[in-house]
Amino acid sequence: MKVQTPIYMDNHATTPVDPRVLEAMLPYFTEKFGNAASRSHAFGWESEAAVDTAREQVARIIGASSPREIVFTSGATESDNLAVKGVAEAYKEKGDHIVTCVTEHKAVLDSCKVLEKHGYRVTYLPVDRDGLIDLQRLDDAITDKTILISIMQANNEIGTIQPIKEIGRLAKEKGVVFHTDATQAVGRIPVDVDEMDIDLLSLTAHKMYGPKGIGALYVRSSKPRVKLAPIIDGGGHERGMRSGTLNVPGIVGLGKACEIAQRETTAEAERLVGLRERLKDGILGELDEVTINGHPKKRLPGNLNMSFAYVEGESLLMALKEIAVSTGSACTSANLEPSYVLRALGVPEELAHTSIRFGLGRFNTEDEVDFTIKRVVEEVRRLRALSPVYKAKKAKIQNRRQAEINLRERVS
Ligand SMILES: *Cc1c(COP(=O)(O)O)cnc(C)c1O
Repeated sequence: MKVQTPIYMDNHATTPVDPRVLEAMLPYFTEKFGNAASRSHAFGWESEAAVDTAREQVARIIGASSPREIVFTSGATESDNLAVKGVAEAYKEKGDHIVTCVTEHKAVLDSCKVLEKHGYRVTYLPVDRDGLIDLQRLDDAITDKTILISIMQANNEIGTIQPIKEIGRLAKEKGVVFHTDATQAVGRIPVDVDEMDIDLLSLTAHKMYGPKGIGALYVRSSKPRVKLAPIIDGGGHERGMRSGTLNVPGIVGLGKACEIAQRETTAEAERLVGLRERLKDGILGELDEVTINGHPKKRLPGNLNMSFAYVEGESLLMALKEIAVSTGSACTSANLEPSYVLRALGVPEELAHTSIRFGLGRFNTEDEVDFTIKRVVEEVRRLRALSPVYKAKKAKIQNRRQAEINLRERVS
């Protein structure tokens, strides 16, 4: 088994740029440097044409009926802010209520928090053990003052995929604008804004083998036409919804990343599910007291989130330094906080700290998976051997088994 360490297995945090994407981008840094808004010369026209092509590529991967519905942003954080705050402002005459979910990305949750300070009311739907929202609860939460439903398509920590089509249908029936943060979904699982009745959709290039700092917001332009107040003013770029000189190389990269993903997603997802199951089965076959977080089936192909009982989370991470993964802890300024997503599933705090998110991606290999299984099993065993609680528990089980055997022998 030959692998080069460190191994990158954190593809929900970011992905490397695909060499084909980089190649498409390079000319737009140097010889093709024009401002896409320069209408008076060939340099501008050339950049504008490249942006047009990218807009079509982005529209196509999400099934948008027109490239005009794509607004380029600096990434999904900005797209989420624009969707949530932009709808709140544009629909304030209609109502002041928003429905979202406790496991959303902070870009949505913190935007909602800010709106609450400005007098809006927000319902944060809970999730079940698998991370799914309850459609009946969503239905019950909607009132005649509800102006926005914002529910992500796939979760970045646990990989759970929400019933987006059903949510979209409900939103449409009730006449409420529906935004989905599809950052983890686009390029990984099928997304179709018409089929799923999505009105606003956030995505970013760096989660789909494109560059960092470029993303988009899909804004439905008909049936219904979604109104959006801008949060960045000046110049009137992107039909007034997002001013600022376009990041042409980034946009070209995003477009190319979409084009590749659209062509290769089906085969790639199949391969990633295979790798993920291999990783899961390999670890579960060797270790007890391991739990899987997130939905067993309705989850992203490359996502595996596991909690390892009876080990110290930080020690486990330190021991696995040659494998780049994420944990169920978030470093806040003062101390280590357990992940709010895992807590929302009901995962106890100690277990949240011993959780690892494996994010498999386009460039991971079977050998890397096998190496990871071997190392995780070794380190969890080593740390558990140091744990008095685990040893006591094992001894208890052993004693009970022996007592059962003794009893059976006495009876026969
Ligand atoms: C990464 C991520 C974001 C933030 O995207 P940026 O482009 O880094 O701002 C938002 N939502 C989800 C679900 C993400 O995974």
